[in-house]
This record gives sequence, C-alpha cells and structure tokens, in this order.
Amino acid sequence: IMETDWVGLLETARGMAANPPAAAGITLQGKVALVTGAGAGLGRAHALTLAKMGAKVVVNDLGVSHTGQGTSSRAADAVVAEIKAMGGEAVANYDSVEHGDKLVATALQAFGGIHIVVNNAGILRDKSFARMSDADWDLVYNIHLRGTYKVLKAAWPHMLKQQYGRIINTTSAVGIYGNFGQANYAAAKAGIIALSNSLAQEGGRKNILVNTIAPNAGTRMTATIMPPDMVEALKPEYISPLVGFLASEKCPATGQLFEVGSGWMAPVRWQRTQGVGFPINRALTPEAIAARWSDVTNFGRATFPTNAQESFGAVQANFDNKASSP
Ligand code: NAD
Repeated sequence: IMETDWVGLLETARGMAANPPAAAGITLQGKVALVTGAGAGLGRAHALTLAKMGAKVVVNDLGVSHTGQGTSSRAADAVVAEIKAMGGEAVANYDSVEHGDKLVATALQAFGGIHIVVNNAGILRDKSFARMSDADWDLVYNIHLRGTYKVLKAAWPHMLKQQYGRIINTTSAVGIYGNFGQANYAAAKAGIIALSNSLAQEGGRKNILVNTIAPNAGTRMTATIMPPDMVEALKPEYISPLVGFLASEKCPATGQLFEVGSGWMAPVRWQRTQGVGFPINRALTPEAIAARWSDVTNFGRATFPTNAQESFGAVQANFDNKASSP
C-alpha cells in the first residue's frame, strides 16, 4: 500500500492555485486593467496574474511604507519591468488613489480604455480607539474607502458607455468582523463592502460586475505580526487567480464577498433570523421584547436577504399583524 504523501499533495494543490494551467481558456486579451497599490504584496501578484492572462496593466503605486509614509516610483517601476520581462504590457502610475482620475487617465492615455479595476492599495494606522487621532482615522479612510471611490468614480463612466466592466475591491476580515485596535481600518473596509454591493446593483444591467475580496496574505503588511512559515503559507499568489477569474468575461458573480487565502476561498453573506413580528395593536414594551428574546435571536431557519427590498419584506409583512385580543 502506498503511503499518501499529504504534504506533497498539498504542495501540488497550492502549486496549481499559484500557477493555473494556462488559465484554461480564460483570457484577458484586449482588456485594460488598473491595479492600485500594485508595487508590492497582493497588488503586485494581481498585476502579474492579469498580465499573464493577457491584459494590459496599469501598475499604480505611490511607493509608501505600510503606514503610508514617504513616496517612491521604484515599487511600480519594478513590477512594470517584471511584466515586460515576461512579454506582457504595462505602464506605471505613481499617484495616490486619492486622485483616482489620474490613475484612470494613465490607462486611457497608454492603452485607450479601462475594463478592469482592482482596488487594492492600502495602509494601516493601528491604534486602540482611545489613542486614535483624527489623522489616523482620516488617512486610513482617505486611502481605503475614499480612494476606492475616487478610482471607481473616474472609471465608471467609461464602463457604463462600453457596457462592460469588472471591478474587484479589497476589504478585510477586519472589515467584516471588526478588530481590536483597528476601528479606523475596519470602518473603511466595511464601507468598501457597502460601496461594492451598491455598485453591483447599479452596474448589473450594464454588464459591470463588482465583487469584493477579503484576502489573507503574507505581505509586509502582515509580516510584522505573522511567523515566517505562516507568511510562506499565505502567498499572495494563492489569491490572485480568484481576482483573475472575477476580472474575466467568465466571471459568474456580482455583489459577492469572498474570504480567500492559502488556496482556500469561500463567499460570505448576511444571514438573518426568522425574527418575531409583535402585534401592532398591542403596546410594544421592552418587557415584551425581553420575553421573546430567545425567539428574536434564534438563527434556526435563518434567511439570507440579498438586497434592501428583500430585507424590507419581513417588516412589511408585519403591517397587518393584529392580535385578535389586543
Ligand atoms: P502591502 O503593504 O504589501 O502593499 C500595499 C501597497 O499599496 C504598497 O505597495 C503601497 O505603496 C501601496 N499604497 C499605499 N497607499 C497608497 C496610495 N494612497 N496610493 C497608491 N498606492 C498606495 O499590503 P498588502 O498586504 O499587499 O495589502 C493589499 C490590500 O489587501 C490592502 O488593501 C489591505 O488592506 C488588504 N488586506 C491585506 C491582508 C493581508 O493579509 N495582507 C488582509 C486583509 C486585507
């Protein structure tokens, strides 16, 4: 009996995730992609993947430290050189995502269009809420949520006009679940999910598909808090193939949020309990709510509303909920 080589199998699976077999017919030929913060970490891996799939890539990077200090053109230039060395097409852009129109202008000037936007640039200013300054809040908000907005605001009219667009925005598990010491980052990242879901609804009929990833990757952003073997297991290259798929004409999703890392990926959605509709012809009191609390919060038979209209259905259903004995 052959012993199963689990480590080898895992390595093979991870290798396949990192190097999809020539993207099995999924191509980005003829498409122009903008990747923000593409000079390092995840953005670099996304840019290389999209270029390998045939896209012309704008490699945007301001070249700052992971807390947003300093600026440099070196990071973006190095990735452009990597793409060119493998026979791909790329140009650099060194503006902050806060000036989204300049990034999109680079795509239009260099390649005459914009079809794919991957909003990825980001920084951290971690502080407990008590110690967080307005500057810590504003900077993180400006780069993550406002930067994502500014880039999309500039790209959107072109996508509407050509009735084609693929947008991948980057949130974080911290934006979904919150985290100690990251109130600024969590709030900005949660805002990105809401922005994505709204644009998915506005773009759907125009073939503009908008999805969000919450990656887990070993980069300089996480190297300070992760042991080296974890950094190795969480290569950005395990995440970029999902970005490539979502960026393609074959993208089967919009308005979805994916947690992804180490070759694993899963969509995340909201769930809601069945809820309790209290009779509207009886005074609703805190005591009445307390008495039914276990029913209110029982997630058995949960539902999964996907838009505000679906969400409102249960509220509306209670309009006529009258007790026979008030
Ligand atoms: P990173 O620090 O390795 O790379 C971020 C890049 O963005 C850097 O090259 C930086 O110069 C650039 N950048 C920063 N501010 C910019 C600005 N204003 N304009 C243009 N470029 C700018 O970080 P990473 O780990 O690769 O993170 C990429 C994205 O993924 C971020 O949005 C981050 O919040 C998110 N994320 C990462 C992880 C993870 O585990 N690494 C987890 C959750 C979310």
